[in-house]
Amino acid sequence: MEYINIAEWFGIDKKVSALVDKLNTMPNVESIDFDLNGYLDRIYEVILIITFRETPESKEMGFYKAKDKFLKDVLKKCKSLGLKRTSDRIEEYGDYSYYIVFDSSSWNADRELAITATCSCCGKEETYTLKGEEVTTFEKYQSEGRSMGYLQDLFPKVPNWIRSGCIDQFSGGFCVCPDCGM
Ligand SMILES: [Zn+2]
Repeated sequence: MEYINIAEWFGIDKKVSALVDKLNTMPNVESIDFDLNGYLDRIYEVILIITFRETPESKEMGFYKAKDKFLKDVLKKCKSLGLKRTSDRIEEYGDYSYYIVFDSSSWNADRELAITATCSCCGKEETYTLKGEEVTTFEKYQSEGRSMGYLQDLFPKVPNWIRSGCIDQFSGGFCVCPDCGM
């Protein structure tokens, strides 16, 4: 799966593109790629794969010194956008590519995920935007289900009928809007 699709699905696409913009201001960046597959398993990690490019300035500085400075700058920029290094070492691949793992759980507070319910009776649609903790709870609920507790306790702010139509795994999407209320 393309990282950009995962980023969109998990509501972190703006964060990721801000990071790309910031990293691209560095003259020694050849390419930037991400592995966000952890999100699919609710592991909130951003893996950055960044490739170094030599410039006349870096050649003058000497490769090892330039590479060190490059990595320090990369880490600083990532940190400034809320990413935290994990204990994983930075892995180095041929062609000056680096593989760096970051804990991105601080991004969860700003995450949003829109869910849309369709009334089974009149067809009316309504969208509710899950925010922050609600998003992570929603993702957890999708794999753990009702063992987590009652839906009304897990999602107290989501209107009842939207909860039935979009979250409850046992409703099969069946829900009735307040206008059609039974
Ligand atoms: Zn209705």
